[in-house]
Amino acid sequence: MEPARDSALTIVGGGIIGCAVAYVLAQAGYRDIQVLERSQICGETSSRAAGLVGQVRTSVERTKIAMASVAMFQSLEEKTGVTPDWVQSGSLRLALTPERVVEFDQMARVAAIAGLEVQRLSVDEVSEMIPLAKPEAVLAALWCPTDGYLQPNSLAMSYVAGARQLGVRFVTNCEVMGFGVRDGAVCSVITPDGEFATELVINAAGPWAGWVARMVGLELPIVPVRHEYFITGSTTGYGSGVPVLRVPDERIYVRPELDGLLCGGWEAQALSMNPKEVDEGSRMNPEADWEVMGEFASSLTTLFAGVSEAGVRSTVGGFPAFTPDGRFVIGRVPGLHGYVMAAGCNAHGVSGSAGIADLVLESLSEDPSPYVISLSPGRFMEGPIDPDEAQLQAQRVYENYYAVAAAAQGGATIGL
Ligand SMILES: Cc1cc2nc3c(=O)[nH]c(=O)nc-3n(C[C@H](O)[C@H](O)[C@H](O)COP(=O)(O)OP(=O)(O)OC[C@H]3O[C@@H](n4cnc5c(N)ncnc54)[C@H](O)[C@@H]3O)c2cc1C
Repeated sequence: MEPARDSALTIVGGGIIGCAVAYVLAQAGYRDIQVLERSQICGETSSRAAGLVGQVRTSVERTKIAMASVAMFQSLEEKTGVTPDWVQSGSLRLALTPERVVEFDQMARVAAIAGLEVQRLSVDEVSEMIPLAKPEAVLAALWCPTDGYLQPNSLAMSYVAGARQLGVRFVTNCEVMGFGVRDGAVCSVITPDGEFATELVINAAGPWAGWVARMVGLELPIVPVRHEYFITGSTTGYGSGVPVLRVPDERIYVRPELDGLLCGGWEAQALSMNPKEVDEGSRMNPEADWEVMGEFASSLTTLFAGVSEAGVRSTVGGFPAFTPDGRFVIGRVPGLHGYVMAAGCNAHGVSGSAGIADLVLESLSEDPSPYVISLSPGRFMEGPIDPDEAQLQAQRVYENYYAVAAAAQGGATIGL
């Protein structure tokens, strides 16, 4: 890896967002870009993601972001020479309650407006795809043929390869400790190796983005919330052609992994960190919570046949960043020239990475769209932030990730 040096544009954080932004900006003609990563490329939250890529959302904008990402995943290998290990398996969303059926109708309408193909399937059609333990429990199924999943590390390596071909430098084991500011503009980045001149900084520090914002005196409600999944041992009846499954009424999602299944979910009482306490010492690699995993496992075995004997092969967890309004934090920081946010992914960072990077690019333009402007960090700068309240609200966004109510309200975060 290369050492840090002076550069026109510095991206802080080499997770999936930092890598995607580097690639998209370099493609758009930005030059002299360096990515500073304090551990390894894709070594933190991104490497732990389940890799689900779902385009069916409850708002047209979010659907289009996910569609842009899928378009990118389909073409990345050809462009960069490195595969993101994208599997276009399709996805199935199962409704177990009448309210959910209504929500599916709404989602199908949003998909139609966005130009995304979705279909309602009968229970018989679903049973042909996967062995259901209780077919009679399924009231409706929404099928999206272009959804799928990928390996986050492979996706990152694909972005990195494309970015490197365009001259981007990636510097690992390089912690950003502060910034120089002169006349209301960022002018340098401070690292253990020295202070390096830069004109533009993009904060893509994931769950640490609030800490990196604090380095320029900015308080932002970026709240790490724990998220976990487990991978089963070998299962029968779930071949490689199995689609991604979401059962929001049971709060779980499932996809094939190796010769078993990956199963994660959204617990009703989440565990989060107070944003004011996140700093360089905050570790985002939690121990497995077996009580929570047990609930996911119970839902899995109740719904799907042939999984009860599979056992748990491994568990994975992390602290993706959430925001109190469930929306990304993207764009220039008002009042501080040259400081840009690319954070607050609300557990959409891998699947939405390409679309999010497009939004960051647009935020740098002269005339960003009203949607991009609405994601500005400025929305949190109108008064003092109450970190306790921010933590509570962001945690609620997490807890309601699969709630029908969230969808009815415009569904900021229906995802994974
Ligand atoms: C268990 C789990 C499952 C998930 N599943 C999915 C999924 O299926 N689909 C999906 O879309 N999303 C999923 N997510 C969410 C997804 O992982 C995140 O949205 C995404 O990884 C965020 O990427 P990031 O680049 O913002 O953060 P990160 O990957 O955490 O990257 C931020 C980087 O910044 C670096 N950094 C921090 N501070 C500094 C500093 N001062 N100087 C230099 N570097 C610094 C960190 O070391 C880190 O590498 C999941 C998350 C978890 C935990």
